[in-house]
Order: sequence, then C-alpha cells, then structure tokens
Amino acid sequence: MIMNQRTLIIGAGFAGSVVARELADAGYKVNVIDKRPHIAGNAYDEVDAHGILVHRYGPHIFHTNSERIFEYLSRFTAWHPYEHRVFGVVDGKQYPFPINRDTLNLLYGLNLDEAGAAEWFEKVREPREPVRSSEDVVLNSVGRDLYEKFFLNYTRKQWGLEPSQLKAGVAARIPTRTNTDDRYFTDTFQAMPLHGYTKMFENMLDHPNIRIKTGVDFAEIDNIGSYAHVVYTGPIDAYYGYRFGRLPYRSLSFEHEHLAGVSQFQPVGTVNYPNDHAYTRITEFKHLTGQSHPGTSIVREYPQAEGDPYYPIPRDENEALFKRYEELALAEKNVTFVGRLAQYRYYNMDQVVGAALTAAKGIIERLRV
Ligand code: FAD
Ligand code: UDP
Repeated sequence: MIMNQRTLIIGAGFAGSVVARELADAGYKVNVIDKRPHIAGNAYDEVDAHGILVHRYGPHIFHTNSERIFEYLSRFTAWHPYEHRVFGVVDGKQYPFPINRDTLNLLYGLNLDEAGAAEWFEKVREPREPVRSSEDVVLNSVGRDLYEKFFLNYTRKQWGLEPSQLKAGVAARIPTRTNTDDRYFTDTFQAMPLHGYTKMFENMLDHPNIRIKTGVDFAEIDNIGSYAHVVYTGPIDAYYGYRFGRLPYRSLSFEHEHLAGVSQFQPVGTVNYPNDHAYTRITEFKHLTGQSHPGTSIVREYPQAEGDPYYPIPRDENEALFKRYEELALAEKNVTFVGRLAQYRYYNMDQVVGAALTAAKGIIERLRV
C-alpha cells in the first residue's frame, strides 16, 4: 500500500469534501482546491452583516431517507431539527404547497375529507400515458386548473422552458397529497446542521492528510500528472474544453435583504410566487435555522440563463450530450467525476453524499491495486 500517494480534488462542495475525507481516512494525502474563495460549494452559509446565518447560494434544507448518510454527516455536525414548509401564492393568497387537501378546500371553498380529496383529483386529472414530461406529471395528477395556478408559470420562470420540454422527474419532485401533511419533504431525517453547513464542512475537511486551497481554478494546476488520482466535481463539459458543445445549466441570481426590526417576514420558511414577480421564491432564513434575532434576513431567487451553473436541465437532448462527455469520463483511468455538475444530475445534497461515498470506495480500491 502506497500511503504517500497524493490525490487532487477539484471542488470543495459535498462531492469533493466527502471524497477528500474518505481518502484521507484511508491514509491518502489529499489536496483540495476550489475556485471560489470558500469551501462548502453551493451549501456555503455565513453570518451576514446583521448577524444572521444565511445561505449565500439559496436555501439548503437537508433531508434524507438514508440512515447511513445521515449518520455519516453526523460525524461532523450536531443537528437542529427542522421540517420545511412552503406556501404558494395564487391571486395574492398563500396556500399550502405541495398541494394537499387543505389547499383544495381553501382554494375552492370545499370541505373535503381524505376520500373526497382523492375523488376530486380523480375527477379533475387528465390521465396521461406514458408520463414523459413535467407537464404530463402534473396534468396526470391534479389536472389543468391546479397546473396553471401552481406549476405552469413557476416552471417557465425557473427553467425558461415549457413544462412539456422538461423531463417528468423535475415536477415529480413535488408530491400531491390527499391528507393535510403540509411539509415540503416527508423524509425520515430532516434537519439543519446546528452550527451551519460551512462549519460542518470545516469539520469534515479538518484532517492531517487534507490540504485546502481556495481561490484556485483547476486550469491553474500544471502538475496534474503527479497526482495518483484526480477527482473533478465541476461541470463536465468545462473539463473537456466544451469539445462537444456546451451542456446547458440553469443559473440563478440571489438577492439578499435584511429587514431591520422585522422579527418575522413571512409565516413559513419559503413562499413560492408562481405567477407574480421575476423571482420564483422568497426564503426567510430564521425559520430554517431557528435563530432568534430582532431583525430578519431573506433571499429572493431570480432564475437566469447566464451565470454560475446551478441546475442541470433535465431534457433528453441534454442527457444525450452529457452521455458523450460521460463516455470520455469513463475512459479515464486516473480521474473520477462526481457531483451534481460533473454527473449532470439533479441531485439533492444527500444524493451527492451517497454518490461521493461510492466514488471514494472505487478510488480506494483502484489505488490499492
Ligand atoms: P457544488 O456544491 O456545486 O460544488 C462544486 C464546487 O466545485 C464548487 O464550489 C465550485 O466552485 C467548484 N469548481 C467548479 N469548477 C471548478 C474549477 N474549474 N476549479 C476549481 N473549483 C471548481 N439540495 C438539498 O438536498 N436540499 C436543498 O434544499 C437544496 N436547495 C438548493 C437550492 C439551490 C438554489 C441550489 C442551486 C441547489 C440546492 N440543492 C439542495 C442542491 C445542492 O446544492 C447540491 O446537491 C450540492 O450542493 C451539490 O454538491 P456538489 O459538490 O456536487 O457541487
Ligand atoms: N414547481 C412548480 N411550482 C412550485 C414549486 C415547484 O412548478 O411552486 C416545479 C418547478 O418546475 C420546479 C420543480 O417543481 O423546478 C421542482 O421544485 P423544487 O422546489 O424541488 O426545486 P428546487 O428546490 O430544486 O429549486
């Protein structure tokens, strides 16, 4: 076993940091770089100028059904239990979202019980077979009126595309409920890192075998060949110099605002605005973190085509282009591609942790041969 082999990790988000920790725990020396001036990738949080813990790149709520992944992260953080709730605004009124029985009763002035709500959906749904697009998913489950009120314009705004142009998986992230459960997620484990994500990443990367350099772009590294293995967590098309053309990623701009003297701005963590404004949603961080403060800090998310890549865009043609890049990636002996941008998958944080643990296992096996 050659424990002095040095590995290079590009990107200090969930993908890069989990692989770094695993390799370090296995005895390998690890250099981690990130082109941003900080670790934690898109999950980066910081205390703003007014003393409130905010997420620079939009709201991050941790949820998972995997006990293994929750336990893994629990090595690096304690937790603040938090179940996310969201309202969707239609014609100026806030309704529970995802759509549940209360949403129906409030919106249409009904008094449905669970069986009544199921019957209602059965009556209004437009059955689609097969369910291919995000339009199919929503029409198939809740019908046209709810589709137009809650989904159509939000999706247009978020992606700059029609729901019919996006794969089913995008809208399928949102369930439809006949009960009155108003939680955004129903996963077994739902919690926020007690001292924030950045602190959790600091703990994960705090290892004698790990060296971190932020503010360094992969393009600046000229001794790639000297590393026993390289892990790349940035956009895969960038790694290959866009040789097959650019993979589309959706970007966002974040407008952070502090409201002095306002102890609560909105009743729940996030309010979605499907039909009004250029932004999709407003999140108030104190709901997520449980922090007490006489003022409050919020963020508005404005989707845009240009800018940092935040979302892969799930469409068949994009996935076909990704496959061409993936073919190159799979042929690499000493480079592993992992994470939301490198694998071009609409991953949540827990899924990235899972993918990174699998990738790390593979690398360790390979290095030991
Ligand atoms: P990233 O966090 O993007 O990390 C990749 C890192 O690589 C970046 O820091 C980048 O600077 C660096 N990098 C890229 N190229 C280079 C280069 N050439 N040289 C050096 N460094 C480079 N998930 C949830 O589970 N719950 C949520 O509530 C949630 N909310 C989200 C909200 C928003 C607005 C967004 C955009 C995502 C959200 N996610 C959420 C998803 C979550 O952010 C991702 O799953 C996760 O952060 C991806 O981790 P990653 O390591 O793959 O990528
Ligand atoms: N969506 C919608 N209306 C909403 C919320 C979500 O139409 O009020 C659709 C939209 O297409 C969105 C997708 O469902 O992109 C997934 O929503 P989610 O909240 O999971 O998105 P994320 O938090 O990843 O941005």
